Amino acid sequence: MLSNSLSELDRAHWVHPVASLRGHEAAGVRVLTSAKGAHVTEMGGRDLIDGFSGLWCVNAGYGQRSLIDAASEQIETLAYATGYFGLGSEPAIRLAAKLAERAPGDLSHVFFTMGGSDAVDSTIRYIQLYQHAKGTPERDQFISVEHGYHGSSSLGAGLTALPAFHSGFQVPHRWQHKIPSHYAYRNPVGDDPQTIIANSVAELRAKVAEIGAERIAAFYVEPIQGSGGVLVPPPGWMKAMCDTCHELGILFIADEVITGFGRTGPLFASSEDGITPDFITTAKGLTSGYVPMGAVFVSDRIYQTIAEALGEQAVGHGFTYSGHPVSAAVGLAALDLYEGELLENGRRMGERLQQGLQGLADHPLVGDVRGRGMLAAVELVMDKVAKTPLPAASAPSQRLFDRAWEAGLVIRAFANGVLGFAPPLCCTETEIDQILDRTRTVLDRTLDDPEVRAEMKG
Ligand code: PLP
Repeated sequence: MLSNSLSELDRAHWVHPVASLRGHEAAGVRVLTSAKGAHVTEMGGRDLIDGFSGLWCVNAGYGQRSLIDAASEQIETLAYATGYFGLGSEPAIRLAAKLAERAPGDLSHVFFTMGGSDAVDSTIRYIQLYQHAKGTPERDQFISVEHGYHGSSSLGAGLTALPAFHSGFQVPHRWQHKIPSHYAYRNPVGDDPQTIIANSVAELRAKVAEIGAERIAAFYVEPIQGSGGVLVPPPGWMKAMCDTCHELGILFIADEVITGFGRTGPLFASSEDGITPDFITTAKGLTSGYVPMGAVFVSDRIYQTIAEALGEQAVGHGFTYSGHPVSAAVGLAALDLYEGELLENGRRMGERLQQGLQGLADHPLVGDVRGRGMLAAVELVMDKVAKTPLPAASAPSQRLFDRAWEAGLVIRAFANGVLGFAPPLCCTETEIDQILDRTRTVLDRTLDDPEVRAEMKG
């Protein structure tokens, strides 16, 4: 099929996720045809380095033989088995057990979903049930963090704190509240780590006092805020927030949909942060994006409270594909890869990536470089002292993405002129260096952008 006819079919029929419908119709689709390791091939044969692992999910890289074999063997032997009616399959049982063994603290129970949004949604449902089971149904208020992303389901989108996910959608709900982000580069209290931590704790306490301490069910946060622009909290921030929540009787949910499975180094960023959340949500890297799957980790205390209160009564929450055997088989194979050598390689390549990006800090457009492991961002500004963002007239999101694409690099370009990086953990040193070289090309070309130049001179 000719690429232009594909383009017409796409324009006419596929409603793309999180896209401007008119913008997409005008720009057209870019079709990927194959991929191997950290490389993707565009229709027509051009090779690019995928510096974003698809959508921060292909942590193991493309074409991993053991993942392909796990999926195809499982489809052949048992393509589907429900978890309803007391049924199950070996891969789902083994994956639940292996995940529980590796999770922090007493997070020893696993509920499987199809992805991250329904994982977040499932936690909301379980938390509501838990509060009823415990005899505290009045704890029905939820708090999350500005710039946070917790998916786009009708409940989770209200925990998400990005305007596009609210506008026109009747969220957030009245029971969904926000506190400011730690966003060190633009925090009104400055960038001193201890001041940021103390201030965030104070803001959480103030919000709790405003709503009423006895009303709060749970607090949601990503260990690193991903879709908000890769905002990395100071070391100790997650622990301080988790401790504060527990002191106040509030459940703490770490949304590790991006940070899980080696993205920041270990299997779970929460382990590195030294915390045991009450729930952890994961997806993406769980199956390295090869097949859809998410997993909600539930603490033993919460599980037992619900189990005890409900007795013989069923928990009315589940999906046809909860614990899908093909996804579970891929999840098991992915775990083997991570624990084989991928986590270690990811750690080494992450250091190279972070150091290399720091080397771009002297570029006239670079205001901030931040990240951890194989997760990073470069924030572009017009003026390093005033931290003025790129002008809207320079269409940062589209033009930065296009320039990277032309340079043979896939990255995320956030609307406010932030470049996001999340390369596969299998990257070689050469590939990391190519990501860095191509990023410098993007920065130089952006400096030549007439709209940027006009503002810089002004
Ligand atoms: N939570 C976080 C932290 C995410 O980054 C995402 C997706 O990027 C989600 C939830 C939603 O996951 P999904 O797109 O699989 O529904």
